[in-house]
Amino acid sequence: MTTLLRTHALTRSFSGDGEVRALRGVDIEIDRGEFIAIMGPSGCGKSTLLHLLAGLDSPTSGEVYLDGRRVDQLGEGDWARIRRKQIGYMFQAFNLVSNMTAADNIELPALLAGVSGSDARKRRIALMEQLHISDRASLPPSRMSGGQQQRVALARAMINEPDVLIADEPTGNLDSQSTKEVLAIFRERHQRGQTIVLVTHDSNVASAADRVIRMRDGVLTGESRLDDRAPLNVRTAGLIASGA
Ligand code: ADP
Ligand code: MG
Repeated sequence: MTTLLRTHALTRSFSGDGEVRALRGVDIEIDRGEFIAIMGPSGCGKSTLLHLLAGLDSPTSGEVYLDGRRVDQLGEGDWARIRRKQIGYMFQAFNLVSNMTAADNIELPALLAGVSGSDARKRRIALMEQLHISDRASLPPSRMSGGQQQRVALARAMINEPDVLIADEPTGNLDSQSTKEVLAIFRERHQRGQTIVLVTHDSNVASAADRVIRMRDGVLTGESRLDDRAPLNVRTAGLIASGA
């Protein structure tokens, strides 16, 4: 396994009415191909951490490495290129362009990254088929359900085949049926090798991850791996088989 994303002693403070220390020294290491879920109470710094991983904000101190390269001090131009090619980011509130069709919303990042119009179209059609939203192609976001808008946001984040997909509460606005559908897509993407980092309040969503990381008050407080979460009889069987 190679490390794809890593932070060292990452802090982020906001000043205003007194200082808010949103992150107070976060060390995290994410392997290529890993599916990570970050959980923690509201206000503990989850979105701030995702923003720093995606270069949407700059740390107060500490370091961020993407694929071995230090990226926390890069300028907006370099970050824009990285976000176009290496990072797909899904915002909690979808952030779709309201006066563009679903198809155009999805193709836009590909066109911005210099992909030809016909290739962008091909990729977009394939993604819409996989996400079962082909029949929504010519609709604006306002004429789609929350689950459909979230799938458009997912297709948009995926169109440039990013190394890592980062998603902030991707099922936060969805009913249970849409949550199931979006979760199935994350699982399927992960099985195909996609690295995924998401924040969620939903333990069902987190249970699909290889590793669940817990946060509180700007620090990581613990983690559990899928292996540790296997049902007891499976673990016991493993121990017996290994002669332990
Ligand atoms: P979470 O996503 O876990 O709910 P956030 O990362 O959004 O938490 O916020 C962590 C803390 O930092 C909160 O106290 C929040 O109010 C504060 N914060 C986040 N962004 C800003 C900002 N741009 N300006 C001032 N305070 C902020
Ligand atoms: Mg948040």
